[in-house]
Amino acid sequence: MKKLRSPFGCASRVTSGYSESHGGEDRVPVDKTPESNWDVYAVSDARVYISKKQKGDYPGGYGAYGNYIVYICDDGFWVLCAHLAELPFVKAGSRVSAGELVGVAGATGNVTGRHLHIEVSDMRGVEYDGASWYNRFKEHRVKPGDCIDFGDYGGFTFKRWQNGSTRERVYSTTADCKARRNPIGYLAPREACDCCGVFDGVYLVVYTVDGTDAKKCGFVSYSGGVR
Ligand SMILES: [Zn+2]
Repeated sequence: MKKLRSPFGCASRVTSGYSESHGGEDRVPVDKTPESNWDVYAVSDARVYISKKQKGDYPGGYGAYGNYIVYICDDGFWVLCAHLAELPFVKAGSRVSAGELVGVAGATGNVTGRHLHIEVSDMRGVEYDGASWYNRFKEHRVKPGDCIDFGDYGGFTFKRWQNGSTRERVYSTTADCKARRNPIGYLAPREACDCCGVFDGVYLVVYTVDGTDAKKCGFVSYSGGVR
């Protein structure tokens, strides 16, 4: 039942997993550079409950969250995003749409590095009173990865593909590759490139078109000593 969308708009990986004491998951996007902004988007149509900038030390309480936002999804899930780089971009009480920019992942609060700390609480059907929202929220917390489609690749990361001493032909489809027909290019002897995984028994590689900066991708049948 993963119906909430990724807060990064792209795949991410867990840097610290969910536990009762942690309360959420720490995540970083996998295909954004360290130099770029790690934009954080609403995971669903929602109403913003809290949008708070917290400066300075974190002497306990919510201070450990740094700048954080809490919003109530229309289907009853509550989402808390902490350690935002700046003031959350949306005000308490406002409506946000799924995919709308709400902040930028940062390193405010009690952290050792930049990441998004995200907590999800299944508050569907739960009565709450505004004064004790956090206790109710904590009681019904769930593992974020169980209800948000983070687009994980199952822990997959790009691997290095290293050609041997002979030219290797590249094909546009797995079927062409296996039949060795209609090659679209080749990898030179000893050429190295990125490999994105194995599909249908052949390897998907991203390689440089000879003499240019252009990248092309295709399938090769040789494993190339992928590591
Ligand atoms: Zn965390």
